[in-house]
Amino acid sequence: NKANNPYEGARVYVNPDWQARANAEPGGSRIANQPTGVWMDRRAAITGTPGARGLVAHLDEAVRQAAGNPLVFQVVIYNLPGRDCAALASNGELEADDIDTYKTGYIDPIAEILARPAYANLRIVTVIEIDSLPNLITNVAPRETQTENCNTMKANGNYVKGVGYALNKLGDIPNVYNYVDAGHHGWIGWDDNFNPTVQIMCQAANAEGATPSDVWGFIANTANYSALREEFFTANTVVGGRPVREHTDWVDWNRYVDELTFAQAFRTQADSQCFDANIGMLIDTSRNGWGGADRPTSASTSTDANTFVNESRIDRRFNTGNWCNQSGAGLGERPRANPATGVDAFVWIKPPGESDGASEEIPNDEGKGFDRMCDPTYEGNPRNNDNMSGALGDAPLSGHWFSAQFQELMANAYPAL
Ligand code: BGC
Repeated sequence: NKANNPYEGARVYVNPDWQARANAEPGGSRIANQPTGVWMDRRAAITGTPGARGLVAHLDEAVRQAAGNPLVFQVVIYNLPGRDCAALASNGELEADDIDTYKTGYIDPIAEILARPAYANLRIVTVIEIDSLPNLITNVAPRETQTENCNTMKANGNYVKGVGYALNKLGDIPNVYNYVDAGHHGWIGWDDNFNPTVQIMCQAANAEGATPSDVWGFIANTANYSALREEFFTANTVVGGRPVREHTDWVDWNRYVDELTFAQAFRTQADSQCFDANIGMLIDTSRNGWGGADRPTSASTSTDANTFVNESRIDRRFNTGNWCNQSGAGLGERPRANPATGVDAFVWIKPPGESDGASEEIPNDEGKGFDRMCDPTYEGNPRNNDNMSGALGDAPLSGHWFSAQFQELMANAYPAL
């Protein structure tokens, strides 16, 4: 008996490993009791790694936290072959053609554990494969933004197959709710990207035995920094006689300027294609608060469109293509159910304080590369329209604890702590 919105009337699992790291930080106890995502970011994460318990231990703890009441357990499925094809910081352990290991060495063991009778009363929310399918739309030939790895993953079909396999296997478990990653407005919000992304979702939802009913919904802004609500303008706000979408560097013909409007529109579009009208959206608000002293408090009065947008915007990145350890970011809305029409919940999937990538090369055995988008001195590439990276310096490997970022996120929280 599935809940239409699994978050409604339920508490959400607090990851004790993250909680301990948050509590160890000065001021961290203010947020240490917030629920965050549990990332299965490599096969070893299933059994447990130093500093992170394995999946069974998490689920046992979840049953304890539930104490007989409804509880959502949020687990991130993130280990596709050729993972993160447009960036290097979160490249994974599986090679581009290693779809068989993904299926039998990763998804199958996770599915076996999630299906155990001991966990049948949990509401298990899966966040499926961040950044993968959208990359096959935006970062492939003939676009200027193409990468060799994304061209490979499009050609071999292993992202589509892997997501289809995951949806099918995990969707067979009666208490699992699959949410597929749909990028964010500053990536998928352009007309060239929007419906093609919905279409590739349909393709994946019909691959490897999956059906669209295996998809409970989609998640926007996972591990990203896009503002939830731009309070002082929309893409259609007219400045200097024309909508800002038509003549500003920031909006640059995007239909959306924030995550809430993007997520709601994505849901409507998905419903109009192959998905069910009951699908719901999640929005990752862990790091999109943009509070602190630099947050604008009213719309600019400038009649120059670029000045107007730059003085009015909540999102203070150089460009919405910037994704790594953004300087000036703050914690966003605290997780809660049913925050807006079509949105099942605001969630903290990216655990605040965990790095997006190292700011310089760091040897490691996790498959992670060095991406210059995490280097504060980097001047960009076509995927961020040749802007500065906006990243904080001295960052550790992706997923590793980044105390300075955690402190800044708390200082710039919006709503404030
Ligand atoms: C990393 C993962 C990590 C996750 C959550 C990703 O960027 O690649 O290893 O588990 O972030 O912090």
